[in-house]
Amino acid sequence: MGLFDVHAHLTDKRFAEDEALVLDRASAAGLTTIVSNGLNPRDNAAVLALAARAPLVKPALGLYPVDAVLPEMLAMGLPYPRDEAAPPPSAEEAVGWLEDHVGQAFAIGEVGLDRHWVPEPLWAAQEAVFRRLVRLAMQADKALILHSRKAEARTLEILVEEGARRVVWHCFSGKLKLGQAIAAQGHWLSLPANISRAGSFSRLAMAVPQDRLLLETDCPYLGPRPGERNEPANVAETAAHLQAAWGLDAPSLQDRLERNFQAVFGVSP
Ligand SMILES: [Zn+2]
Repeated sequence: MGLFDVHAHLTDKRFAEDEALVLDRASAAGLTTIVSNGLNPRDNAAVLALAARAPLVKPALGLYPVDAVLPEMLAMGLPYPRDEAAPPPSAEEAVGWLEDHVGQAFAIGEVGLDRHWVPEPLWAAQEAVFRRLVRLAMQADKALILHSRKAEARTLEILVEEGARRVVWHCFSGKLKLGQAIAAQGHWLSLPANISRAGSFSRLAMAVPQDRLLLETDCPYLGPRPGERNEPANVAETAAHLQAAWGLDAPSLQDRLERNFQAVFGVSP
């Protein structure tokens, strides 16, 4: 038995210097699986290369919802949300890449809708890409790992219309009632390592059934301590928090979470 991280970004350049140490610390903290999520074709290729050299890492391949409309955003004069070196591929190219590589994916992620960075004139285009990726995941029998920011209700609407069931909502930050509706739909929600200082995640952990919850970090972002780089080993802190909140011992908590992982991804962590 062990712990896992369903949403990491180990290909981020902030891990370039000490990747092996980060993975060693994850193993030492009891992690048996880290799902590293891709953002665009270039990052997806890096995720596949990482998974090939690190047995702990499973590759999720995706198209970040901002990247899904990034050429259009740049044409509107909006800045890059990240410092990317090359001009971004079109959604057509990025989806084509995923269609070609879906067989190598452990899951499809991260994908979804973002209305925080993406302006309203591009929402329809963003949704069209998202629907294609939901269908691709369902056809290939892969779980979806979702990013939804300021668009949670619309994201759920689309997933219900498409009939998607194996869905993990990463870092859900919508209203508690909507989180409960997502759980009632049979989807899963993953809790980040900053749970101890983000009351909304503690409340979510108590408001939805325990069989709907998973662990994540979103590292290098969302660390448990402000300003510090996050890493997969920190899921141990979320596990300790849940153990106390749910009144479980460590083996019972790990057993619960492992069964949740198995239910959504179809394999043990
Ligand atoms: Zn992410």
